[in-house]
Amino acid sequence: MDDKLKNNLWFDPKLCFIGGHWVEPKSKKFISLINPSTGKELCEIARCMNEDVNLAVKSAKESLFGVWGNKTAFERGRILHKIGIMINERSDNFALIESLDVGKPLNQSKADVNALCRYLEFYGGAADKVHGETIPYLEGYTVYSLREPHGVTGHIIPWNYPMQIIGRSVVGALAMGNAVVLKPSEEACLTALAFASICSQAGLPKGALNVIPGLGEEAGKCLSQHGGLNHISFTGSYQTGQEIQRNAAKNVVPITLELGGKSPQIVFEDADIDKAMPFLINAGIQNAGQTCSASSRILIQKSIYKKVEKLMVENYDRLSVGPAIENHDVGPLISKRQLNTVQNYIEKGQDLNKIAESPLNKTLPPGFYFQPTLFGDVEPSHVLAQEEIFGPVQILIAFQDEREAIEIANGTKYGLVASIWSNDASRQMRLPKLIKAGQIFVNNYGAGGGVELPFGGVEHSGFGREKGFEALKSFSSYKTIAVKHG
Ligand code: NAD
Repeated sequence: MDDKLKNNLWFDPKLCFIGGHWVEPKSKKFISLINPSTGKELCEIARCMNEDVNLAVKSAKESLFGVWGNKTAFERGRILHKIGIMINERSDNFALIESLDVGKPLNQSKADVNALCRYLEFYGGAADKVHGETIPYLEGYTVYSLREPHGVTGHIIPWNYPMQIIGRSVVGALAMGNAVVLKPSEEACLTALAFASICSQAGLPKGALNVIPGLGEEAGKCLSQHGGLNHISFTGSYQTGQEIQRNAAKNVVPITLELGGKSPQIVFEDADIDKAMPFLINAGIQNAGQTCSASSRILIQKSIYKKVEKLMVENYDRLSVGPAIENHDVGPLISKRQLNTVQNYIEKGQDLNKIAESPLNKTLPPGFYFQPTLFGDVEPSHVLAQEEIFGPVQILIAFQDEREAIEIANGTKYGLVASIWSNDASRQMRLPKLIKAGQIFVNNYGAGGGVELPFGGVEHSGFGREKGFEALKSFSSYKTIAVKHG
């Protein structure tokens, strides 16, 4: 095991967490986890298969009829609060583990731990504030409603933001009283295990949370086909999302799909360019562009196009790329496979005008580094303007007027996030309604993470909402009760 990791781990990463116990996978098989900054093995993790999935679902179900199922809403909230406080006390460990595992620059990992703690605080507080309603009905009736947990919820998550996604999906599900089976990514799963360990120490009842690392084709597939689930929350690529949806349909299980994006930022000639610039850049290169809501398309009004292009190129020239724990602007990509994917896209962009390529230091260790790359004046129909690249690659597109900007912004199969940069108050109010996305920002991008702000997509970006109070609806079902007076 990597020495730095060893010094920061307090649990055995080769085990899975089922029914409140750390156990070896029944398969007795393991997966090698790679440090993206060095290309070397970090440690081994469990390769859970069908038997482990079955045990995890069984223990989750049992917990609903046991201690966990009997907790009141405020008791659940208190436990979540306590988990948040305990994670905060270990935030340096969590951040370092995440940086080693995901290749994320340390400051970005620290921001993710903070976000996880905020989710625990938010959903801890929200757990006992989900109310039903009374509904006026016929004479002689009292009708009311309840929001109830689905039961066992399956969570299949990717490698790019493990802590944030655990916060917005697993924590929301627990707040509503569901019992969780979590399948983290085979490419980054250490903070999911760290989370389980703190949950256990904080007194989360046995079986309420089960963590089964494994391959998508094995543990993931088995979980999504499992007849014992009552809800599935999936975050990942739309191709896998389609398969999950087909599997869930066989069991008529409700799902939330949080998929990819090709999110635009639209810069009008009346925008404050200096304020916009850090957002235009950061939203593209954060986590090396491996962010579902990465802003990979920058739409710029023709009258200011050259000015914005020049500033963006200057910013790209200043970006530093390097190992995660050295805290550069941009870390490595997650894997060799992801590096190949991004390089293939660059090949497809050979006909384009490459206007910036941040320099790569020749002394970099043999990790999966890719130089942030900017393409200028791209046609909206080009493959690089249409498909999610998932690397530090941004493209600039020029537009004439508002109408054309909307057409281009809405012209991909995705609809996750968008932003509008303009000081025209009328446009600020008018445009959000015309743009296809689950979240729209005006004169900002991302609003600092936004634990409170419901998040999700339309079309190929998925459906259902996580984050904020809206997530609690996703993780519960609505029951109507009509009482006829005697
Ligand atoms: P992915 O779809 O390959 O994998 C995601 C998860 O699904 C992993 O845990 C994987 O093991 C599992 N999986 C893979 N094949 C499976 C199968 N056949 N059955 C069941 N599970 C399976 O995605 P990825 O490469 O890990 O993540 C990148 C994608 O995730 C991007 O498209 C990105 O935009 C998207 N994403 C979306 C959001 C969002 O909130 N909308 C957030 C983060 C990432």
